[in-house]
Amino acid sequence: MSAAETGAVRLRIAPSPTGHLHIGNVRAALFNWLYARRRGGVFIVRIDDTDQARSDDRYIDDIIEGFRWLGLDWDEGIGVGGPHGTYRQSDRFDRYRAAAETLLEAGRAYYDFRSAEELEKLRRQAQAERKPPGYYIRRPPDADFEAGRRRAEAGERGVIRFSTPGRPVEFTDLVRGEVRFEPDAIDDFVMLRSDGSPTYHLASTVDDIDYRITHVARGEDLLSSTPKHILLTEALGAEWPVYAHLPLLFGTDRRKLSKRHGDTALRAYREGGYLAPAVFNYMSLLGWSMGSDDEIFGREEAAAAFDLTAVQKSPAVFDAEKLAWMNGVYMRAMAGGEFVDLAVGCIEQDLGRGLDEDERRRLAGLAPLVQERVKLTTEVAPAVRFLFTDVSYEERAWRKVMKGEAARALEAAHEALRALEDWTTAGIEQALRAVLAAEGLSARKGLQPIRVAITGSNISPPLFESLAALPQGAAIDRIAAASERLARTDS
Ligand code: GLU
Repeated sequence: MSAAETGAVRLRIAPSPTGHLHIGNVRAALFNWLYARRRGGVFIVRIDDTDQARSDDRYIDDIIEGFRWLGLDWDEGIGVGGPHGTYRQSDRFDRYRAAAETLLEAGRAYYDFRSAEELEKLRRQAQAERKPPGYYIRRPPDADFEAGRRRAEAGERGVIRFSTPGRPVEFTDLVRGEVRFEPDAIDDFVMLRSDGSPTYHLASTVDDIDYRITHVARGEDLLSSTPKHILLTEALGAEWPVYAHLPLLFGTDRRKLSKRHGDTALRAYREGGYLAPAVFNYMSLLGWSMGSDDEIFGREEAAAAFDLTAVQKSPAVFDAEKLAWMNGVYMRAMAGGEFVDLAVGCIEQDLGRGLDEDERRRLAGLAPLVQERVKLTTEVAPAVRFLFTDVSYEERAWRKVMKGEAARALEAAHEALRALEDWTTAGIEQALRAVLAAEGLSARKGLQPIRVAITGSNISPPLFESLAALPQGAAIDRIAAASERLARTDS
């Protein structure tokens, strides 16, 4: 029986902190999390920081914040601990060296003191014969363990390579089915570099063994590493986990996802006005579906239905526009009160101050109309800012609207609204429609100048409600101020 059958499943995500958390890693984390939750298992966040020159703790913070924001809670790992230490590879170099040592002694690995030039020559020879680059980089006949150790101890710089057994490797991938690698495609990979640091292959495999990982679900770009990890796991006397290679992410032009297709760091979405449940929902569709047309679902629903065997083989398309659309769906689905709270938070941050009772009430009045119209939370503050700050006119909007009959419209509206006793949406609408009729103005000609006068922009929430959300005095003053500015600029 394999480890997967005897106990709780254990899955991990292992990002390298060499940059901001990438959405490819987020999708992999999400699938691992979903599967762990579905099976009542353990989800682990491990930090692959063997590359000490490029790793940076601020990226570890970004990884932790990103996963927490999405609600991908983990049972063991960085920040939460567990039975395996810090879950950082940089703290385990001794363990990796010991594993390499074991393999050396068992004859499953060898010291390689060949120079870069020699190796390059072998690579070129393979290339010329259209063979895989590592074809001739095999154990030299004189690679004797004791002799190698003596040379290493005498200070000679060399690497430690895994000695591949020269047989094919076959495994069943939960996504791709039966996979087979021929011996030629599996090179004698380096496990320890000449500076004593472990490579990804060694560190990752040893960790997966030590942390008793039962399922490794990772990007298809790592498929060719898997036969190496399988051989290494066997050589270390352990059982290999079940593998699932997740489809690559493409942009809408069906090319490998890159910055050209939109932001590839989760952070950009976290700070760019996206809601975590919408991002969660969208990312879970990158290579998987509920099996129905239902595209909008929550975490629990997804976790109840998810299976790695249902993940598609073909590349998944990341479409930033669709993500924004889905975010809008989530914005509109928020309960009214919840949206008001969100809007209060957005505008308070925007203004750099708190809202008082009266201001909150006015915002709440307008909030349902804003909620219908925005896709991103970053659009909320600009839409309602006019309620709480002096107007600053967008020059383009002013030039477009403040001409022709605008002066007449503003004056007549000012008259009518100053005299209005019923300062409600209905009262305001009635008064302004009467103005349009009396002045013979179309809604566009007659109302757009008022919109610019009170909001500074020709795009705003609906006008009558926007006016009603302002105190009557402020609304009238703004119309008067616009009239005066128009008179000044006209003359
Ligand atoms: N550190 C590797 C990465 O960021 C982890 C790969 C794996 O899951 O084994 O892609």
